[in-house]
Amino acid sequence: MSEALPRVALIGLGLIASSMAHALRAKGLVRDITGYARSAETRAVALELFCDRVTESAAEAVKEADLIVLAVPVGVMGEITAEIAPHLKPGAIVTDVGSVKGAVIEAVSPHIPQGVHFIPGHPLAGTEYSGPRSGFATLFENRWWLLTPLEGQDPAALARLRALLEAIGANVDEMEAKRHDLVLAVVSHTPHLIAYTMVGVADHLRRVTHEEVIKYSASGFRDFTRIAASDPTMWRDVFLTNKDAVLDILGRFTEELFMLQRQIRMGEGEQLHAYFSRTRAIRRGII
Ligand code: NAD
Repeated sequence: MSEALPRVALIGLGLIASSMAHALRAKGLVRDITGYARSAETRAVALELFCDRVTESAAEAVKEADLIVLAVPVGVMGEITAEIAPHLKPGAIVTDVGSVKGAVIEAVSPHIPQGVHFIPGHPLAGTEYSGPRSGFATLFENRWWLLTPLEGQDPAALARLRALLEAIGANVDEMEAKRHDLVLAVVSHTPHLIAYTMVGVADHLRRVTHEEVIKYSASGFRDFTRIAASDPTMWRDVFLTNKDAVLDILGRFTEELFMLQRQIRMGEGEQLHAYFSRTRAIRRGII
């Protein structure tokens, strides 16, 4: 057991929080996990599956906690931190798992009391499922967990959090928040937007039926759009809070798409072949 952070409070009990709880328990890393969720049903599931205690109030959940994990949609991180702030124990570590870092830091930091350490984070691990039943202990194994420490961050607190995350199998890297948001716009946020759009396109077509799309979806559509089954609240918040980076990458995406559209219309096979050869080589480099 890690004596460094024995009592954990999970604020929000969905995929990421439940996976953390399963992983921490499976490795015997903490003594006690308290969970907070708004709905009684979620709390009951969490108590049955992975929490030692659940509370109806976020403030109540954090009172004794050494580590507080904010695992709610990015858009509510600020208000929930304001609620828990007066109840945080001196020396406690608050981290979050939000998919966007700049906006979360802006929303959360002002509420963090003196003597409490806020260390923003983001596990690059997930599935298209959500809710307290969707978590599993191995979600973070061999996956990146990015921390975006703030200026003047206490190195000892950072080391304690890092050790805990590594103990549940994550590869921890540190990154500046703005850089994180740009990188994630490329590797995650914009691809999700495009996947959602492709499903929307198929939905709006009248000449191809829903039945045909479902029946024949193995030919690209199924793989390509798997991530479009992800939680809509989470993704709305991601796009609204990482607006600049997503719009930047989306602009570049549409430019390339227009270029390909033109090459297809003009029958420019050589250019298309060269483009696909280059992108195939890049894609094959990703395991
Ligand atoms: P989830 O939908 O499975 O769980 C979210 C939890 O937050 C639920 O318990 C929900 O009831 C609660 N919640 C929602 N709105 C709330 C509010 N207004 N007040 C209090 N609680 C509220 O989502 P998740 O996938 O676990 O995502 C949680 C966080 O993790 C998000 O910030 C998301 O950006 C981030 N994240 C998700 C993934 C992923 O692939 N799903 C990956 C990395 C990080």
